[in-house]
Amino acid sequence: MERFEVIIIGAGLAGLAAAYTLAGEGIEVVVLERGEFPGAKNVSGGRLYLNPVRPLFPSLWEDAPFERKIVHEGITLLAKEGSVALEYSGEELRRPPGHSFSVLRSRFDRWLAERAEERGAAILPNTLVERPLVEQGRVIGVRAGGEDLAADVVISCDGALSLTAEKAGLRTPGFPRDYAVGVKEVIALDPGKIADRFHVSEGEGSARLYLGEVTKGMFGGGFLYTNRDSISIGLVIRIEDIGGEAARSVPALLDEFKERPEICSLVRGGTTAEYSAHLIPEAGLRGMGKLYGDGIIIAGDAAGLALNLGLTVRGMEYALASGYYAAQAFLRAKGKRDFSAPSLEVYRSLLDDSFVLKDFRNFAGTPDVLDNPRYFEHYPELAAAVFRDLYKVPAGSKDTLFSTVRRHVDLKEIWSILKDLKKASAI
Ligand SMILES: Cc1cc2nc3c(=O)[nH]c(=O)nc-3n(C[C@H](O)[C@H](O)[C@H](O)COP(=O)(O)OP(=O)(O)OC[C@H]3O[C@@H](n4cnc5c(N)ncnc54)[C@H](O)[C@@H]3O)c2cc1C
Repeated sequence: MERFEVIIIGAGLAGLAAAYTLAGEGIEVVVLERGEFPGAKNVSGGRLYLNPVRPLFPSLWEDAPFERKIVHEGITLLAKEGSVALEYSGEELRRPPGHSFSVLRSRFDRWLAERAEERGAAILPNTLVERPLVEQGRVIGVRAGGEDLAADVVISCDGALSLTAEKAGLRTPGFPRDYAVGVKEVIALDPGKIADRFHVSEGEGSARLYLGEVTKGMFGGGFLYTNRDSISIGLVIRIEDIGGEAARSVPALLDEFKERPEICSLVRGGTTAEYSAHLIPEAGLRGMGKLYGDGIIIAGDAAGLALNLGLTVRGMEYALASGYYAAQAFLRAKGKRDFSAPSLEVYRSLLDDSFVLKDFRNFAGTPDVLDNPRYFEHYPELAAAVFRDLYKVPAGSKDTLFSTVRRHVDLKEIWSILKDLKKASAI
């Protein structure tokens, strides 16, 4: 059997971050990727929050192919016939080095793969890993492309459905309520039009999230990010909600979303350049499987490291950081020449002490708090109704603003809002 120190399954951000870090330490590492090239099979909204991962890869970011620096945030409650938007922008978001950036994975992952290769990592595209090789409970390598390959440690970064983690006995298949499906379209658009429509200058971008009618009241939301010369637009909906009476085709919902007056003027004249769909783990801490075993470490989405807080959808920096910490865990285990589960347990400790598992502990209650249909239907309709009447000038005399609001927010409603707020104090 051909032998490597580390085999990484999947050239997404988790796998590439691990490969980049390990190759930088002179480790013999190979990345096996089923796609045609790194980034070919990867889907993100794509907004990368750089602050948490900047220190882990200090020399990496200067020439990174970011699309735009996000300097404008927006969240919109979409009702059936109206919408209420809240926007946030200002100089503080423009200050270097920048808080978050839009990225296109096909470009970004390829670039990161090149950086890892420069350091000596071998990246093999078009290589599907069929299963881990397990001997007496210990992972000793993988079967890929009809060949058996051996390694001291396999780092499994094969994404949300991670069959490797399942076949290695580290996790069981998830439930529909633990995953969302995301669909995304990249719409090519002239940079001048992007600047005019989103009020941004060259290199600057806008990020917008949408709740409510966009998912027809189902758990999830819509997003729209500006890239250099395109717009990424999409929907994320919990799988459990897509079905039964509410059964709808998610791509059809995306088409309806694009036809909304709030959206169609933003994407008008653009042409679809890319269409993709992917799963997102959404169970948070509750859905996390075992993160390591004898001869194996799990990182990124494969480990369930994605977090939807409603205001932000984050997974990319958890993937990058967990890949980095997986590499660190290997280096420490190598120092002891011991790749057993007790030795690789250091991976869990490193994640525990980092922003990764601190975030997951801080937001452990979020999936349950968000599991409230009022957020996805009632509140957007209520907000739009209140604003409609506040702005409306009727034929006769106009009610006071206070009584206009109270007409919609009666004592029963106030009581329900207080109950939701109490529950939301867990996040
Ligand atoms: C619609 C959508 C919007 C999102 N928006 C955002 C966002 O704005 N910001 C954010 O931070 N996160 C976002 N996320 C989440 C983010 O994309 C993921 O958390 C992130 O991509 C995880 O990276 P990863 O490396 O763990 O997995 P992936 O990027 O999924 O990479 C896994 C890799 O493994 C390969 N692979 C799988 N099985 C095998 C096999 N058997 N053999 C060989 N290779 C294999 C795949 O081809 C793939 O390249 C979004 C996700 C979706 C779907």
